[in-house]
Amino acid sequence: MGVSKGNMFEIEVKKVSLYNTRSRGVEEFAGIRPGYAGVYCCGPTVYNYQHIGNLRTYIFEDLLTRVLRRAGYQVTHVMNITDVGHLVSDADDGEDKMALAAKREGKRSHDIASYYTDIFFEHCAWLNIRRPDIVCKATEHISEMIELIKMLEHNGYAYQAGGNVYFDVARFSRYGDFARLDMDNLLAGARIDVDSNKRGPLDFALWFTKSKFENQELQWDSPWGRGYPGWHIECSAMARRYLGDSFDVHCGGIDHIPVHHTNEIAQSECATGKCQAKFWLHGGFLTTASEKMSKSTGEFLTLDVLKKREIEPLAYRFFCLGGHYRKELAWSWEAVESAGRTLVKMRRRIDEIRESVEEGLDDEFSQVGLELLSAFDTAVFADLGIAKAMAVVHETISDEQISSVEKLKLLSSYDEVLGLDLMCAQKEVKELPEDVVALAKERDDARQAKNWSRADEIRNQLQAAGYLVEDTADGTKVKK
Ligand code: AMP
Ligand code: ZN
Repeated sequence: MGVSKGNMFEIEVKKVSLYNTRSRGVEEFAGIRPGYAGVYCCGPTVYNYQHIGNLRTYIFEDLLTRVLRRAGYQVTHVMNITDVGHLVSDADDGEDKMALAAKREGKRSHDIASYYTDIFFEHCAWLNIRRPDIVCKATEHISEMIELIKMLEHNGYAYQAGGNVYFDVARFSRYGDFARLDMDNLLAGARIDVDSNKRGPLDFALWFTKSKFENQELQWDSPWGRGYPGWHIECSAMARRYLGDSFDVHCGGIDHIPVHHTNEIAQSECATGKCQAKFWLHGGFLTTASEKMSKSTGEFLTLDVLKKREIEPLAYRFFCLGGHYRKELAWSWEAVESAGRTLVKMRRRIDEIRESVEEGLDDEFSQVGLELLSAFDTAVFADLGIAKAMAVVHETISDEQISSVEKLKLLSSYDEVLGLDLMCAQKEVKELPEDVVALAKERDDARQAKNWSRADEIRNQLQAAGYLVEDTADGTKVKK
């Protein structure tokens, strides 16, 4: 494993290689400043629950920041919260997702946003996704967006039409480079009837005024009239505010390449004249049998649903780590349940190792231990190669040469990257016997069917067997 030295400050960091969407190749990571990595991740649009597909992307980003920190980088992880401006289609079509949700739930946009933001972070915590160092809300950064739009206007990349301000794609010759867009075909096939204000079909809104939607709840004064920002400008402005004109890594799901990130690059680079992000990393989609998991098709699962089926959230994290972050991952209940069982087995093996620790043993790493540690790091530093890293975890558990103390130290060190609570004593979370779980399920069904006498009968049966029975919003909870 190589070590790079930052030229100015002699900061030692380990070599990390990452796939850069910009070059479509794996490159050795080098930050703009030695030893430092500014990482911007596109965050949730808080108009609904984040589904487990969205969460897969945040797990990948969490893994990335853990790996960069392990390599010695000081990381600033920034994530935005989109609480205004994201229209139903990424290409400026339809109404604001937040406004639609406010209507749907009969609440104010602000309340919708704070409700879904809180749930999002709760779900992240269940998954051991560390909270980013900076979480920034779009509605609190309108002045930064206005400033960026003014810069674009000044540089000749923005125009006003019908009360809105648009980005003029034709002025930016590199527009299609990032996503390798076939511009001629795209322009020929684009719908021109969507918004007659646009000069070109790929132009996108930087600022909307009342002319787009009357009575929009969230509005701000601007040099172009009272209105609200486009979605793409939010990320450009907030990334610039917290990480500067140029920064190290920008992440998101793979769907963001052709529109959102293409537009972000256009805005940021035309406004500042500088390269926005050196490295662009994209997570592959979680797919269901029919297609990707998506909110628009209504086909989505949340972490709550998994919990209701007694699936530990970390089993989902483990399932996600089972596929390389750039590849599609096919969702199935069987696969996630099997991941959960494997995780429990691993923790039980670690329980046994803990029990076999002999007092007074030297706690220095042996040669074999050092080799295992280095193999683990080499794997994760190679474009987040978790498959190889997991093989090292298993090898460590079953190794016969190293002491139990050493094994525990290694496993605990691996878990700083994996975030699977490997060291949590599985014995303390003893599983309930299968017949008890079945009875609890049967009781939920009986309650659903308003068969109260059967529900009571089951409760009495469980209590007689020494269990505590509670009715919760998630159904019957049984404890020994
Ligand atoms: P959104 O709230 O729709 O803006 O999405 C939040 C994040 O989840 C973005 O980075 C998306 O690219 C990502 N995402 C959306 N759908 C999926 C999916 N099915 N699998 C993985 N990531 C997704
Ligand atoms: Zn974004």
